[in-house]
Amino acid sequence: MTIIVLGGGAAGLVAAIKAKTKHNEVIILEKNSKCGKKLLQTGNGRCNFWNSDQDISHYHATDSDILTTILKNNQDKVLPFFASLGIVPKVINGYYYPYSNQATSITNALVTRSEALGIKINLNENVLKINHGQDFAITTNIKTYHADKVVMALGSMAAPKTGSTGFGYQLAQDLGHSLIPVLPALVQLYGDKNYYADWAGVRCDAALTLIEDGQEIKTEVGEVQLTNYGLSGICTFNLSSWVAKGLAQNREEVIKINFVPWFKGDKKAFKAFLDEQAATTNFALKQILEGFLNYKIVNLIFRLLHLSMDKRWNEEEAEPIIDLIMSFPFHAIKTNSFAEAQVCSGGIPLREINPRTMESLIVPNLYLVGEILDVDGDCGGYNLGFAWMSALAAGEACHD
Ligand SMILES: Cc1cc2nc3c(=O)[nH]c(=O)nc-3n(C[C@H](O)[C@H](O)[C@H](O)COP(=O)(O)OP(=O)(O)OC[C@H]3O[C@@H](n4cnc5c(N)ncnc54)[C@H](O)[C@@H]3O)c2cc1C
Repeated sequence: MTIIVLGGGAAGLVAAIKAKTKHNEVIILEKNSKCGKKLLQTGNGRCNFWNSDQDISHYHATDSDILTTILKNNQDKVLPFFASLGIVPKVINGYYYPYSNQATSITNALVTRSEALGIKINLNENVLKINHGQDFAITTNIKTYHADKVVMALGSMAAPKTGSTGFGYQLAQDLGHSLIPVLPALVQLYGDKNYYADWAGVRCDAALTLIEDGQEIKTEVGEVQLTNYGLSGICTFNLSSWVAKGLAQNREEVIKINFVPWFKGDKKAFKAFLDEQAATTNFALKQILEGFLNYKIVNLIFRLLHLSMDKRWNEEEAEPIIDLIMSFPFHAIKTNSFAEAQVCSGGIPLREINPRTMESLIVPNLYLVGEILDVDGDCGGYNLGFAWMSALAAGEACHD
């Protein structure tokens, strides 16, 4: 039996390793001149490959009940798999990295194991067409291959310079699959105001609360990066999948920024704190605020509220200042492009695959894994997590 894996990225390499037995031939077709180009960029080159908190809320899919089955069946397989490759993890607050702090450790371990098992890795092979008849005929820029089973691990259209341009969606659709609209996710957000240059370059701790059409959806707390077009950073990324979907449906997407998250939204407590700071220091308001906020944020607040720079704290006028610091409104108008996105939301619907095996319910002997499917995860190792879990399931199933 010949199994061909399309795409030598995170999911493709793992699926190939699991699919290989001494009774079958496994071939990876990869369009780049090396495998795992995107994998090498993950986690700023450190590869955050797993997270100990595997709560379903960190993953997003239209068919979330099917996703739950995939996660439950495969969560316990990931760490033993990487241990079997000799990867020693470094765990920081539940975030897993290779101990070397280098994504190359993961990529090299996967490629070395593939080669040791006798998997053929055919590089510079751009898959152009797949026909399904008695077997699969796969045409690349070089030749036509025949396979009994195919694992499609062609990725999404995020960061297309790494090789995954979204063409996999087309190939799957040509075989009869449908597509849930694909949007950038884990990506920066643009706002509607002309004053963002004033806060550009600030990195601060904040709580971001997403409000969609007036309804509170989700709050993310952590580091936020303020840019000359809007918002970036992990908290922003973790809201971006919602925002992108909402904007595509013409929903109003407002993010309320709380620059003093440690008060947990308690305005009375924050006011009491400001009263006390004013009483004990006798500072002007600007100096009080600069005691805990970046000066660029303070200047912007003064500008927006038309306050004079030497203004003193005055309890009577506290409300608009407290409101702006605790719920600064940011109207998102668009996400950054696919080129800047780490992943995509949308993709091939999970309802078109068997969640135990990842086999297509439309084309027998075709398996779909990784980001080509309609699953996206939060920052923190969840996207690679899904790539590994789906690939382990498919690899095990397709050699049975
Ligand atoms: C900058 C960045 C940082 C990230 N950091 C993290 C992180 O720290 N943790 C985390 O969990 N996730 C992270 N991600 C997301 C993660 O990298 C992806 O979710 C994961 O790589 C998806 O794996 P995949 O195998 O499905 O797709 P890919 O890794 O994209 O692999 C798909 C492969 O298919 C090949 N291919 C595509 N089309 C063809 C074709 N027609 N013919 C032949 N080959 C083809 C591509 O060249 C590619 O090698 C990051 C992403 C980016 C862009």
